[in-house]
Amino acid sequence: MMDKKNNELIKPSSAIPILLYHKIEPPAPTGTPSRSLSVHPKRFESQMRWLKAFGYQGLSICDLMPYLEGKKAGRVFGLTFDDGYRNVLQNAAPILGDLGFTATNYFVSGQIGGYNQWDVPRKIPKLPLMTELEMREWVDNGHEAGAHTISHPVLADLSHEAAQQEITDCKKVIEDAAGAPVKAFCYPHGSHNTNIRTLVENAEYTSATTTKKSHVRTGDERFSLPRITVRRTDPGLKVLFRCLI
Ligand SMILES: [Zn+2]
Repeated sequence: MMDKKNNELIKPSSAIPILLYHKIEPPAPTGTPSRSLSVHPKRFESQMRWLKAFGYQGLSICDLMPYLEGKKAGRVFGLTFDDGYRNVLQNAAPILGDLGFTATNYFVSGQIGGYNQWDVPRKIPKLPLMTELEMREWVDNGHEAGAHTISHPVLADLSHEAAQQEITDCKKVIEDAAGAPVKAFCYPHGSHNTNIRTLVENAEYTSATTTKKSHVRTGDERFSLPRITVRRTDPGLKVLFRCLI
């Protein structure tokens, strides 16, 4: 009943939010680099339940595409996780399953079953990334496997050839590991330019997400989709309001 009342108060917007998460785990001790990107499972659950209570449906990029193209309308938001952390399968997937939400996780093909090696120079704690078996479990639960390059470089700093290899060669490896087609790409560190967007399009992806902060509008360019980063201290209500704006 509360849902019905809330639905009447808030009308669906043509601006669609895509949420960006990394790790769903109890945060590391104070002072640990990049601590803000770990969202506690209980807080994540609260954020998802607030959105559900207001009639929102969380969708993977694949499931969101008809809304982005204006073919479907409704109160939806995109749900994405970067880097393929095992803690997302362990701590977020059960909540998503309970609420009937789907999500996209962007995997790094050179670190399947490995760890976040690219974070080592910044002294960010090492965390396990999903194995092939775990990636298949993610996909079997109705979620999407996306691509996040081979080694998580800053693409704009690479030569044309190296960037092309990072973008193109990770696709088949992730498809084989996850046992599903890979159509969604995500720029590591948000790094992209016109040349890199063209490489992604030529590699037969159908979308690419960035770290630019805003909502997506129907008809926006599909290879530079903005997202809203959710951080450790964001209460469920704040995430809801950021989706509504
Ligand atoms: Zn990343």
